[in-house]
Amino acid sequence: MKELLIARSAGFCFGVKRAIAIADDTAAKAMDGRTEGPIQSLGPIIHNPQAVERLERKGVRVVGTVEEIACGRAIIRSHGVTRSDRNALEGKGVTIIDATCPFVTKAQEHARTLSREGYGVVVVGDPNHPEVKSIISYIEKGVPVFTSVQEVKSAKGVRKAGIVAQTTQSFDNLMAFVTAAIKRFPEVRVFNTICNATALRQQESTGLAGRADAMFVLGGYNSANTRRLAEICRAINPRTHHIETAEELAPEMVSGAKVVGVTAGASTPQWIIDGFVESLKGLWAGEEIQVSFYQ
Ligand code: SF4
Repeated sequence: MKELLIARSAGFCFGVKRAIAIADDTAAKAMDGRTEGPIQSLGPIIHNPQAVERLERKGVRVVGTVEEIACGRAIIRSHGVTRSDRNALEGKGVTIIDATCPFVTKAQEHARTLSREGYGVVVVGDPNHPEVKSIISYIEKGVPVFTSVQEVKSAKGVRKAGIVAQTTQSFDNLMAFVTAAIKRFPEVRVFNTICNATALRQQESTGLAGRADAMFVLGGYNSANTRRLAEICRAINPRTHHIETAEELAPEMVSGAKVVGVTAGASTPQWIIDGFVESLKGLWAGEEIQVSFYQ
């Protein structure tokens, strides 16, 4: 008998599901004539080329910068957007459709409040990531901002500091910043803005990788969270394959495997997971197959 185990948390998280629903709804309103003008998303709504193509077919055009948006509607993706980009869009009279994940909004709000209350702000995360750029943009001008442990260690003249984290950061990394901050600043406030969707998916996936003979991680090659998921699964199970769609599934990837595990990044649509399940069933035709969820 063959067994296929699907990680319960595979695929879209709450914030991405919400952003896609908002984009779908915006496109539907334009298609049936309830709204006029172009629909643009400021960056891809999610890091999954197949899902982005699907939205493009419905009229949602991806643009890289606010300069490319002259009118119509602009969808802000789950990562959020910088305050200056938001102001620029509002200044042009563009209608903003805000699909920022509420957890990211929370991190932006904490950053703003801390800076208004006189705290220096430590932002744990990748300073080049759009989410971190958006969080930093909510910090009032002139307030010291720290984005590395080294910067915290060498900070001067700051008596109190507040810490917020990019939602996808690991708890260990947040704690490294907290440890450095409490050694450096007399007063430290910490907001744990890490979203547990990522930790939960990673936990489940590593458990599953340990049980499976062959492990599959589905999702865009450009999706950082999918790549990370593949990395941690591979550390547990060297027979881990990161693929974007079922078309890449080859018989040798599962040869001799009795138990196959599958997980997917936060930006991988359900239809890609379903497609993989169907293709694997095709490869296993004639075998008795048990499909179940793993959590
Ligand atoms: S991972 Fe968490 S914070 Fe990020 S979009 Fe999903 S639910 Fe929101």
